[in-house]
This record gives sequence, structure tokens and C-alpha cells, in this order.
Amino acid sequence: MEIRFYNTLSHSVELFHPIDANEVRMYSCGPTVYDYAHIGNFRSFLFADLIRRFLEVSGYRVHHVMNITDVGHMTEDAVADGGGEDKMQVAMRKLKEGKKSGKAQEGAIENPDDPYQIAAYFTKAFLADAKRLGMKVAFEHPQNVLHATAYIDEMLAMIRDLIERGHAYAAQGVVYYSVESFPEYGKLSGNTLDKVQAGSGGRVSEEELATKRHPADFMLWKADPRHIMKWDSPYGQGYPGWHIECSVMARKALGDVIDIHTGGEDLIFPHHECEIAQTCGATGNDRFANFWMHARFLMVEGEKMSKSKGNFFTARDILGGKATGRAVHPAVLRFELIKSHYRANMNFTVKGLADSASAVRKLIEFRQSLDEKTGGEAATVDASHPVLKTFLEALSDDLNVSGALGVVFPWIAGDHPDPHESLAVFQEINCVLSVAPIEPFEGDAISLEGEGEELPVNDLCRQMDDARARKDWSAADTIRKTLQDAGYEVRNSPNGTVATRQLA
Ligand code: AMP
Ligand code: ZN
Repeated sequence: MEIRFYNTLSHSVELFHPIDANEVRMYSCGPTVYDYAHIGNFRSFLFADLIRRFLEVSGYRVHHVMNITDVGHMTEDAVADGGGEDKMQVAMRKLKEGKKSGKAQEGAIENPDDPYQIAAYFTKAFLADAKRLGMKVAFEHPQNVLHATAYIDEMLAMIRDLIERGHAYAAQGVVYYSVESFPEYGKLSGNTLDKVQAGSGGRVSEEELATKRHPADFMLWKADPRHIMKWDSPYGQGYPGWHIECSVMARKALGDVIDIHTGGEDLIFPHHECEIAQTCGATGNDRFANFWMHARFLMVEGEKMSKSKGNFFTARDILGGKATGRAVHPAVLRFELIKSHYRANMNFTVKGLADSASAVRKLIEFRQSLDEKTGGEAATVDASHPVLKTFLEALSDDLNVSGALGVVFPWIAGDHPDPHESLAVFQEINCVLSVAPIEPFEGDAISLEGEGEELPVNDLCRQMDDARARKDWSAADTIRKTLQDAGYEVRNSPNGTVATRQLA
């Protein structure tokens, strides 16, 4: 099967071949952990998860790495060098003012003046949300989630290499990348040097203009001993620029040239343009990632998501029922965020969420009916099975999810004379969609307010089985009630008690 993806670098749909025949090396820009991740962030992350899962079911091993930006970066990093306020500092201020989009769990951040505690808290919250939403990179190999603060030495080593190779220079306590040293600068985004005036928005101070060789030169390191997160360096105590971490972590984890690099569309410039300049400058190669893939932005009810419009939702807001007035099952939110094509602006609506809930319910019920008929025993199928083949062919066309879902729903509605075979096909499909049941369903949190209050659903189901085996009906009833009160449907199956979370 030929796989085609749209490559931002070439502005065209290209045939995808990994560098190594069997393994795909893929890097995704992850979250900045100074607040809870919002549903737009998760659209970008789940888009990467979908690519990864599709490639796996198509037979590739995928080495997928994502970073966590836990270094404090400046709010105006995208438009100027080190301008604005440090994002961690903003987080601290807002935490103190009680203005975070979701309240941090009481007492979870002992000292809101410690940026490391803030980053650790929101990293944990992000990983918990990511697991609930089935993001494989977040729960399969923890070593593939890389923390920027653990790579400062490697960043300094790359900065040193870039200086030695004539791609960077130190001026007045700042190390800059010299964009003129890299003729390919601008190829990804179209922001070539003749088009880039000052920085990316003209907001460069006189002082910067005086020290930079070219107004678009960007910061690799800034000496600033007063900065809240700072490290020693040959250029003075300070902190790294925003872009260097991804070049460093991708190279360290995946090598000099990788297959796929993902992010949201806002990262094309300057972030990914600068990553290419840094990595190629340091390796001497003319390529960093063969495929650059970007998800378009998520809109809410047709508008840009913004706090002032009141249409801004974190994943926890949705799961906890802020948009709908009812708790939403993570599988429903996952389905909603992956169901439209990644290169179309996605419009998140309450109606769409309700449609996703009914779609997920159909998938879960189909799965349950097959489980009951087969006792959970699946036959063996491969990708040549006609249903699986058409499902994967749709996805191989630049991740055409609606085409793929257009194969799944008519199929599940049809006859299934061989439930063992159908279960096997469904399991493969569900490895990509991951909604029925979703893997992180085990231990799924009922209270979305904090990490400490999770209901151990599977443990309770097993305890209920034990109580029944002992004929302790009142104990079994108590457990059933606990689950039901928490919004679970409880039923018997050939494999024992099963608790299914009520959907949206
Ligand atoms: P950040 O935490 O701001 O660094 O963003 C993490 C990821 O989310 C990046 O890949 C962004 O491009 C992406 N992102 C941010 N806002 C949206 C949005 N509204 N829709 C889709 N992706 C987004
Ligand atoms: Zn990045």
C-alpha cells in the first residue's frame, strides 16, 4: 500500500517512505506546561497520534518522541527575542490571582513561586489528560516524552557547534543564530530573508537591532541572571531560546535526519523554520525532517478560541462537562478531535460532540456484542482483509479520516457471520481510532479535578466478581452503587463485571 502525506516543505502531497525500511522516526512539538492543555492543543497532539497509530497498523514500527517545554519562555518569543514576560512567571502570577483556566488542585503546588513546581504540576496534568485521550506517546514509553530542562547541556553543546560552524555568534550576552549563514532559511514557511523585515513582526528593540547582524537573527541563549529559570553557560548565566530544545531533543532521541515532524500550523514560522536552520546548521545536512506535517487550528462554534469570548476550553473542561453540562467520556472527545481532516480548520461544536458520542456508542456496543459472541477470542487477520484494506487505503490518502470512518460504520451495521474474524478486524481498526474501549480506560478518572481522586474502576469490577463468588450480595450491591453513582453502567459479561462510563 502506498502512503501519501501532504508535506508543508514541498507544498504538495508526496509518497511517504521512511528512511529505514521498517521504522518511522517521528517528532512532535509538545505542550508548554504553564497551564492545562486546551482542546486545540489536543487536536494537534491527537493528529500526531493518529499518524503514528495508522503507520503502526500499516506495519511500521514507529519511534515517536514528544517534548515537554518546561523551560520558562517569554510571551513574545515568537515576535522578538526575549521580549514580554516569562510564561512561567505569568503562570505564577495567575495562580496567585486564582486566574488559571482550571484551578490547580488545592495544595498540589506547595510553592507557587517555584517555576519547577508549576511545570511539574502541569506536566503531570498534561500526561494524565493525554493518557485519557489515548495519546500513545504519553503512556507507552515514558522515555519518549522528553523534558527540555533535562537537555540544557546538550543545547549548550549544539550552540557551541553552531558558533564553531559559523552559524551563530555571541553579542552583548545573547547568542544569535545568523540567518544569513543558512541560505535555505525561509524554505518551509516562505518567509525568506528578503521578506522578513525585523524579526517576524518588526517588534525588535533598538538595542537588539544594534547587536544583531540581521534583524531576523534569532536567539539561542540569553544571559540573564535575574531570569526565574537559569543555568550556567560560557555566555553567562541565563536561559535557552525557544527553538533550540526541539532541534536538540529530536537529534538526541531520533538522529540527524528524521522521517516526520509534526505540530500545529502556528509552529511553521518561526519555530520550525528555526529548528531546520539549527539542526541543518549543526549536522551539515540539507535535511532535518523529510516530512513536515501541520494541523490546522481548531475553532469553537465557528470562532477562534479565546478566553475573552468565553469559548476557551481545556480538555478537562470538556471532560468535566463545562461545554455540555454533562461529563463527557474521553473516547468521545478523542473521536471529536480526530474525526475531521487535519488540514481543514476544525470546528468544535456541542452538536459535533453529541454526534461523536453516538458514533462512539455504536463502536463500543459493536465491540461488546462481538466480545459476548466470541468470549473475546479473535481470529487472525492481516491488512489484506477487504474491510481493513479499504479502511487503511483511505488513511493512506493523506489521513482521510472521514473516508476511513465511511468504511467502518456501514460495515459494523451489516451482518457478521464470523464474529471472531469481525472482532479481529475491529481490533485493528480500534488500534487506530482507540475509542472502543480506549486503552487508558482502566483507572479512568471520574473526578477530573485532581489526580488523587481516581476511582479504580477495574479493581471495583474484580471486587464485585469476588463478592458474587462469595455470594456476598450486599457487598456486590454496594460496589455496583458506587460505580453507578459515579456515572458508570454496570453489567455482567462472560468475562465478569464490566463498567462502562456513561457517554456525553
Ligand atoms: P503550546 O503549548 O502553545 O506550545 O502548543 C502546543 C501545540 O498545540 C502546538 O503544536 C500548537 O501549534 C498547537 N495549537 C495551539 N493552539 C491550537 C489550536 N487552536 N488548534 C490546533 N492546534 C493548536
Ligand atoms: Zn518544537
